[in-house]
Amino acid sequence: MRTISIFGATGSIGESTFDLITRAGGPEAFRTVAVTGGRNVARLAEMARALRAEVAVCADESCLPALRDALAGTGVEVAAGDAAIAEAADRPADWVMSAIVGAAGLVPGMRALRHGGRLALANKESLVTAGPLLMGEARRLGATILPVDSEHSAIFQALVGEEIAAVERIILTASGGALRDWPLEALARATVAEALAHPNWAMGQRITIDSASMFNKALEVIETREFFGVEPDQIEVIIHPESLIHSMVGFQDGAIMAHMGAPDMRHSIGYALNWPDRAALPVARLDLAQIATLTFRAPDLARYPALRLCREVMRVRGLSGAVFNAAKEIALDHFLAGGIGFMEMSGIVEETLARVSSELCLERDVMTLEDILGADHLARVRAGEIARARG
Ligand code: NAD
Ligand code: MG
Repeated sequence: MRTISIFGATGSIGESTFDLITRAGGPEAFRTVAVTGGRNVARLAEMARALRAEVAVCADESCLPALRDALAGTGVEVAAGDAAIAEAADRPADWVMSAIVGAAGLVPGMRALRHGGRLALANKESLVTAGPLLMGEARRLGATILPVDSEHSAIFQALVGEEIAAVERIILTASGGALRDWPLEALARATVAEALAHPNWAMGQRITIDSASMFNKALEVIETREFFGVEPDQIEVIIHPESLIHSMVGFQDGAIMAHMGAPDMRHSIGYALNWPDRAALPVARLDLAQIATLTFRAPDLARYPALRLCREVMRVRGLSGAVFNAAKEIALDHFLAGGIGFMEMSGIVEETLARVSSELCLERDVMTLEDILGADHLARVRAGEIARARG
């Protein structure tokens, strides 16, 4: 029986993964090693019971007594804290879903690679912060990383049977997020609730705000560069409001392969779960006559400074991805807490990149996990100072 683990099981991607695993037979079809969550103990315990997991781990240590109570008498082991999550990743599993949000997903993902199995990677932040390290470890250990981000799953599928050398360009599609039709002057006043009203995708809160600011797309541009090994100038971004083409690959001969489907993350999760095969998935089928039109427009860089900043990050590479991501996470925390305006997030990230690069050489040919975690930490401290000074 195939063994699986789900990191970030209680989140949006985690729930979709649980849904597919359950539909495929749950504990009759898979042996679940670990499920992890943040603070939502009740849901984590429910999932651990349903899948008869070996261990359930919550990130927040103060939740451990509640998790222990909720799973008393079930035989499911319980633990809490970051170290316990990393230890859960040390338990071998054939297929591991990496769906913790933010840089916190990096260490468990790195540790899970050691078993040489399949890592379904939703946590794009780990490729942004540690792309060369993560990809290098996967190669060295014979592990397979399968992209779960819908764009990267689309590109991965368009590349089946193709040589990466035949690729001319990769075109990432972006919905434009909740504020895409707002006038530029109004964006500075956008509230959290307004930025959360995503037109097409139902996702976690953080990635939904990142979609409106296009920080999500900026992370995905870097993710594309690291995962597929293409040059930065081969990666383009286009706004496609319908979110039905999930991304495209343009080849040397001018052909473009586009991947289409309903905007439902269970497609890319299911593809990674069944890879290299395909299996029936419970996603809506497109009615093209009903859809009738697909539209595209170029993104305006004045609205989306994140798309400019990611180019600088790819030029420097090294530790700059870790700084970019960490500064973005802190800026987002401050926006969510009401301390800063929507358009100030990019200013904080830009200033943090400048400040940290004056303290630390970001350009590196070789870097360790410790270097990355150190840069991540310094960037969080500086971004916090910069955000408080503005707030
Ligand atoms: P979410 O916020 O809904 O869920 C995140 C999960 O991680 C939850 O289980 C939460 O409890 C846990 N978590 C949060 N902070 C943690 C910490 N410090 N330590 C350990 N666990 C922690 O997020 P999501 O939308 O499911 O996104 C998960 C990842 O997938 C992100 O990297 C995101 O960029 C990526 N992704 C999501 C979508 C989507 O549709 N939701 C699409 C593409 C990529
Ligand atoms: Mg995406």
